[in-house]
Amino acid sequence: MSRKHIVVLGAGVIGLTTAIKIQETGQYQVTIVAETLPGDAKGPGYASQWAGAVHMSFSRGDSDQQKLDMETFDVMWDLSQSGGLEESCFLRVTKRFLTANGTDDDCALGLTQMPDFRVLEKKELPGDATNGVSFTTLTIDTPIYLHYLHARFLASGGSIVRAKVQHINQILEGGAEVFDISKPLRSVDAVIVCSGLGTRFLGGIEDKDVFPIRGQTVLLRAPWIRHSLAFDVVGPDPSLCRYFIPRRSGNVIIGGTMGVDDWFPRARPETTQYILKEALILCPELAGTDLPPGHIPSVEDLYPNIIEEGCGLRPGRKGGIRFGFDLFPVNDARKTVPVVYNYGHGGYGFQSSWGCASVVLRNLTQVFHHA
Ligand SMILES: Cc1cc2nc3c(=O)[nH]c(=O)nc-3n(C[C@H](O)[C@H](O)[C@H](O)COP(=O)(O)OP(=O)(O)OC[C@H]3O[C@@H](n4cnc5c(N)ncnc54)[C@H](O)[C@@H]3O)c2cc1C
Repeated sequence: MSRKHIVVLGAGVIGLTTAIKIQETGQYQVTIVAETLPGDAKGPGYASQWAGAVHMSFSRGDSDQQKLDMETFDVMWDLSQSGGLEESCFLRVTKRFLTANGTDDDCALGLTQMPDFRVLEKKELPGDATNGVSFTTLTIDTPIYLHYLHARFLASGGSIVRAKVQHINQILEGGAEVFDISKPLRSVDAVIVCSGLGTRFLGGIEDKDVFPIRGQTVLLRAPWIRHSLAFDVVGPDPSLCRYFIPRRSGNVIIGGTMGVDDWFPRARPETTQYILKEALILCPELAGTDLPPGHIPSVEDLYPNIIEEGCGLRPGRKGGIRFGFDLFPVNDARKTVPVVYNYGHGGYGFQSSWGCASVVLRNLTQVFHHA
């Protein structure tokens, strides 16, 4: 029996993970169609290239989200085993999450299942923190991890077509081959929409609940930093937060911002200064390990180690991630093709990616079961 042909739209962490999950069942032939791919120059249409990233669940009492996050954590924890081929994508770290405005329970919400979880004692809290928790997790070197996903998908027999899709009907009627004139058109059995922020503008879907949450960061060289810290919203401005995330490579991402509906695609110089200043308060060791005795670390000490500053647009969505499916009429309604949704992952696309891919696979099975 020939395998069903599935097109996944998008090659961010969500599209790649979903495509792998479906392709590796052996029951489907998957083609990804995407405008940007791992390794492309960084830009505002591809959030995955900008992510820190660390696995720290934001589920905060939402049990469905917690399941998605924990399934993903288990997969990534296995991948990060010492000596494994995928180990270079991850760094296992102790993570502290602090607040100056909350309680121990606020900090702990959604995190108590993490390995080595504990509430910090008051004497362990740095600076203006009033409460905090500590646990073991992993950080993800996102550019390397995206390359790993890309290679794993191709190795499992999947294929990729680079194209910008203007309207979902283009794929529904002509398959991925509609963008490759060297190949004959081919019918498609289902389309999975994993187009992140692009879904706001994708003809036939145009989901106006999708919006950007801008995250500005600085990437530094600091291989001596091997733990991670995040501080929740600081002061009256809810768009400012503080964190640092070391990667196995020795680079460290510091941030950051959570600018709701902020579309500006370049780093703002004054925000970079804010990020550097706050990161030094959180972690003076970022300035180096060989500073002269008595030297007080300053922002200037960080300059020689800066690799880049930049920002990404997280694909936020009112109501959270969109799952489920619709049947779209094709060829003057002579047939219908299922369109399955997986987009709107905001600031938690990496840490929920494998759980979300499982939901899509279940939905796909359900679609064909009822067909
Ligand atoms: C600064 C920052 C820090 C972050 N930190 C974390 C973290 O610590 N942990 C975490 O889990 N997450 C983090 N995130 C969030 C994470 O990056 C996103 O949730 C995730 O990348 C979303 O992935 P995606 O695949 O849905 O979208 P994207 O990565 O944006 O990919 C979208 C894909 O769809 C394609 N596409 C869109 N429209 C079209 C079209 N019309 N035609 C063809 N192709 C199209 C694009 O080309 C691209 O391939 C962070 C994000 C930022 C910016």
